[in-house]
Amino acid sequence: MKPASHHLTRCRRCSAPIVWCLTSANGKRQPVDAEPDATGNVAVSSGADGLLYVRTVTAARPEIRPGEWQAMPHHATCPSPPPRRSSGGAQRAASGAVRPGPWQR
Ligand SMILES: [Zn+2]
Repeated sequence: MKPASHHLTRCRRCSAPIVWCLTSANGKRQPVDAEPDATGNVAVSSGADGLLYVRTVTAARPEIRPGEWQAMPHHATCPSPPPRRSSGGAQRAASGAVRPGPWQR
């Protein structure tokens, strides 16, 4: 199985083809790579309501059921993930505050 073409969209950070899915756990939106990936750790399925649902493939439920396909969450493959808040190193202190006045005796 593959996602239907009308689900296809592009990541606005890296423009990779992705599909938006709802997690079967809590209904949150999650971007998943549009191309099925046998090494992915999630399984995507098309719901009766026409939406895509994603669930994590766990050791307890490793089997891919009929109608599902295995894929990789886009967070795992995106080359430019959202910036982290704690990475603040880009802030340069303006070092223009030189000591006023000539330094001479
Ligand atoms: Zn991306």
